[in-house]
Amino acid sequence: MSFRRERYVPRGGPDGGDGGNGGDVWLVADASLATLASYAYGKVYRGEDGEHGRGKTQRGKDGTPLVLPVPVGTVVFRQVQGRWRQEADLAVPGARYLAAYGGRGGRGNRWWVSPTNQEPLLAEAGEPGEQVRLRLEVKLLADVGIIGKPNAGKSTLIARVSHARPKIAPYPFTTLQPVLGAVSWKGREFIAMEVPGLIRGAHAGAGLGTEFLRHAERARLLVHLVDGSGSDPLQDWQEVEEEVRLYGKGLADKPRLVAVNKMDLPEAQAQKEKIALAFAQVGHTPLFLSAATGEGVDALLDRLVADLERLPPPVPPAGEPPPVFQRPRPRERRRIVREGSVWRLEWERAERIASLLVKQKRLSWKEKAQLRVELERMGAGQALAHAGVQPGDTVLVDGLELEW
Ligand code: GDP
Ligand code: MG
Repeated sequence: MSFRRERYVPRGGPDGGDGGNGGDVWLVADASLATLASYAYGKVYRGEDGEHGRGKTQRGKDGTPLVLPVPVGTVVFRQVQGRWRQEADLAVPGARYLAAYGGRGGRGNRWWVSPTNQEPLLAEAGEPGEQVRLRLEVKLLADVGIIGKPNAGKSTLIARVSHARPKIAPYPFTTLQPVLGAVSWKGREFIAMEVPGLIRGAHAGAGLGTEFLRHAERARLLVHLVDGSGSDPLQDWQEVEEEVRLYGKGLADKPRLVAVNKMDLPEAQAQKEKIALAFAQVGHTPLFLSAATGEGVDALLDRLVADLERLPPPVPPAGEPPPVFQRPRPRERRRIVREGSVWRLEWERAERIASLLVKQKRLSWKEKAQLRVELERMGAGQALAHAGVQPGDTVLVDGLELEW
């Protein structure tokens, strides 16, 4: 609140400028980042405060927004009433999410000037910035997802074709992390990922199933690996396909090929014709290979490189602007609480004005009158009347006591 200083005029025209807005906090998908490691220690991130308004109608400067880079593929969850809700999927570089709104600057007393009010004594405190709790998850971006039952040889295969060194076990061992490996083949590169844990019920979360399937959502192509030495490879294949279908989210529509593994084993060789026939009946021409000896693996890589070349790239075509995820500003909190003949008016707008008045020792009748007019204007008077306030009751606004 400020008045122009003029000689001989104790109070010139009101000239208190508005406060600046607080800086928003943004998350932006940045292709140069691969992990969220930089957020492992920092816990609180703040946009810059706006500056105070000043005399001579000077508006305070807005705070600089805080821009937090996150890896492409970051999925943002926000805690809303104790529950985590997915709010954004920053799948392409430049995709942005407005994490928290900066508070809007308060209005200086100049704002209240009117023909009937030449000496406004009200001003408004800035709005507090929004506070949010976020959970960030990165969906790993793989071109090829290798699916199949535990023990099919997925880890062995990815270890053979890439530098990934997953744990390989001679029993249905479930890797706890999806394993990614960069594959270089004939001058081409792609990322392959083992999607572990595809057991019955995986789609419903059994054995961390959904946790892993989620990572496969972005794969452009799936390789379904089956154990050729198993007693019924087609049945194994059907079991996993069913999980994929039940999981939904377009996973079942992804292009895929079937690879029959462990062809170095005599049991597998013995049923090769039978397997080929069985898969032909469900519309697949499987590739036969041995992840252990490497036989047939080259042919699989040739096929993958060729297929990936044909498939559309995972990012939207250039020219399409990256998406911006922005929810509306939170609504103003408005509540009236009654405690006997005392009423607490918990209206944000009213509180922001009162919080500045309350700092003064005594309010003049002018200030009280102006506040009263303002409360009427914003509808608080009517709301209080509706709630049952009686003349003579006390109305508390942010610690400011008013006799109604
Ligand atoms: P995953 O559960 O699908 O990841 O399967 P793993 O890669 O961990 O392999 C399970 C078991 O099968 C291990 O004992 C591997 O050594 C074995 N295995 C994997 N591929 C082959 C193969 O081509 N031939 C033979 N004989 N064994 C294999
Ligand atoms: Mg494995």
